[in-house]
Amino acid sequence: MPGGVNSPVRAFNAVGGDPLFIKYGKGSRMTDVDGNEFIDYVSSWGPLIFGHAHPEIVSAISRQAELGTSYGASTELEIQLAEKIVTAVPSIEVVRMVTSGTEAVMSALRLARGITARDKIVKFEGCYHGHGDSLLVKAGSGLVSLGIPECPGIVKSLAEKTLNIPYNDIDQVRELFEKEGNEIAALIVEPIGGNMGVVPPKPGFLEALREVTQKAGALLIFDEVITGFRVSLGGAQKLYGITPDITCMGKIIGGGLPVGAYGGSRQVMDYISPMGSVYQAGTLSGNPLAMAAGNVMFDLLSKDGVYESLEEKSAKLCQGLQQNVEALGIDAQFTRVGSMFSMFFTSKEIVDFESVKSCDTDFFKRYFNGLLEEGVYIAPSQFEAGFMSAVHTDEEINLTIQASRKALTAARG
Ligand SMILES: *Cc1c(COP(=O)(O)O)cnc(C)c1O
Repeated sequence: MPGGVNSPVRAFNAVGGDPLFIKYGKGSRMTDVDGNEFIDYVSSWGPLIFGHAHPEIVSAISRQAELGTSYGASTELEIQLAEKIVTAVPSIEVVRMVTSGTEAVMSALRLARGITARDKIVKFEGCYHGHGDSLLVKAGSGLVSLGIPECPGIVKSLAEKTLNIPYNDIDQVRELFEKEGNEIAALIVEPIGGNMGVVPPKPGFLEALREVTQKAGALLIFDEVITGFRVSLGGAQKLYGITPDITCMGKIIGGGLPVGAYGGSRQVMDYISPMGSVYQAGTLSGNPLAMAAGNVMFDLLSKDGVYESLEEKSAKLCQGLQQNVEALGIDAQFTRVGSMFSMFFTSKEIVDFESVKSCDTDFFKRYFNGLLEEGVYIAPSQFEAGFMSAVHTDEEINLTIQASRKALTAARG
């Protein structure tokens, strides 16, 4: 396997040493093949909002496995999950299941281009939308951590159709749309930046995006692959009260199995085949195991108090971490929306990719390795978010705060 991994973000290039090879996970912890146990804040990069091997999800998967793992024909499980998504997510009337977040986003772009008969796409620097060709330009953490300024292999004429502007910069958005608005098929955004560390939208930013896209006849795509079902059951669009034209989802809705989805109004989604002529297909789409896991995940998330508890625990952790850096006199910025959070080692206010890049990555490297030694696993890059799960205990949060104190002290030298 290239670099020993099947996804480059798992490599330890940015922090030194060998990537972890995991033997098993249970709840908020996982154990590697050498027998080291870690409290896990990567959560498989977002999906595991109920931790590893949640008993109800495991039994739903094994029950379904007994009945068959794929039919190449439709199941009731797909209808059930689709109904839950449509009920929870304000802008979605019709939803198509796919197999990854990347696939959801690629399909959403084709749909937007098909509807508008325009080619150009607007995205924000530091936002990641999967590895589709159109979007792999200034695409956040994975590439920055590995020091890749520009990905080779992207057709130049396609890359030229992707316009990049700084996150949270409303003036540049307006300027761009004034100049080229009638050539733009869609603007795609992570409504809460999650792939350059957590960068929340400034007040009015998402509202402005809705306004300019509408005026230009371009579609607004919310990439909620991370934020969907994490910041609220209705995603960031529910939290901020903005209605996008297309929403992309993934990660949490698969309950830890490979899944993606995209949806929007009936009018928009009727362009998709077999209703319309924008073609998109998938052999394993709506896979029964993933649908079974997703349905249970959704039911667990729908219970009272889940998001309140995630908020409380995440606030507690971040307060503890903040007290540590203050006590030790270390420059750091904290960002958090619900259970997604970041600690950036910089004195600059975090608003966009430029400010994120001002971080002291050598300090992060020492901090990461110190934490790992203390049995706490965070993403092996300064430019990634941390994720709290519903099964992290108060005791584990306290242990994490103590471990962080030690790792910070050691990193400071
Ligand atoms: C993870 C992610 C994707 C890609 O999803 P995959 O399942 O890894 O293909 C797309 N957009 C965002 C915002 C993501 O965080």
